[in-house]
Amino acid sequence: MKEKRGLLIGRMQPVHKGHISVIQETLKEVEELIIGIGSAEKSHTQSNPFTGGERVLMLTKALREYDVDPSRYYIIPLEDISCNSLWVGHVKMLTPPFCKVYSGNSLVQQLFEEGEIPCIQPSLFNRTEYSGTEVRKRILNDDDWQSLIPESVVKVINEIKGVQRIQKLNKKEISELI
Ligand code: ATP
Ligand code: MG
Repeated sequence: MKEKRGLLIGRMQPVHKGHISVIQETLKEVEELIIGIGSAEKSHTQSNPFTGGERVLMLTKALREYDVDPSRYYIIPLEDISCNSLWVGHVKMLTPPFCKVYSGNSLVQQLFEEGEIPCIQPSLFNRTEYSGTEVRKRILNDDDWQSLIPESVVKVINEIKGVQRIQKLNKKEISELI
């Protein structure tokens, strides 16, 4: 029998095909999935270039593109807090009730397990390519980044001039070093 509701968290900077695969796989195990967009308040840095709202848009469009039933997931932006010991309560305050967490992050696993919520590590798909770090690196170097992310996310990145943003942020960060 499927578990009622699970939680999966990712920063999704940007949403890539690995995120879509893990969401599709997890939906085989749970009736409903809460997808938390981590570090939602962060944007305009090399490792977090996109705003929480832009990432909500990317994920909404991508799940529609992949025909994921919208009645089976909730997209919830999650801002960081500075206090790790209070973080599980913070996440629970912002999300529908859930009984299982899916995360590869060891601190996330530890915090939920201490909060008596089971946490499992989902398998990774084609991790050498399907990684946020790899997508951002390719955008910066004008390499083929489009094949690593859903077509609808390419459209969002173009709409918000994401390539120019990342390339400009890089120049700014280099000039700050000089
Ligand atoms: P970054 O390189 O920016 O950290 P990321 O690719 O690790 O990006 P995150 O946004 O950090 O992605 O999201 C992390 C979560 O997304 C992981 O805990 C994992 O559940 C899922 N995930 C990321 N990449 C993959 C992948 N290739 N296959 C399956 N799941 C993935
Ligand atoms: Mg990561």
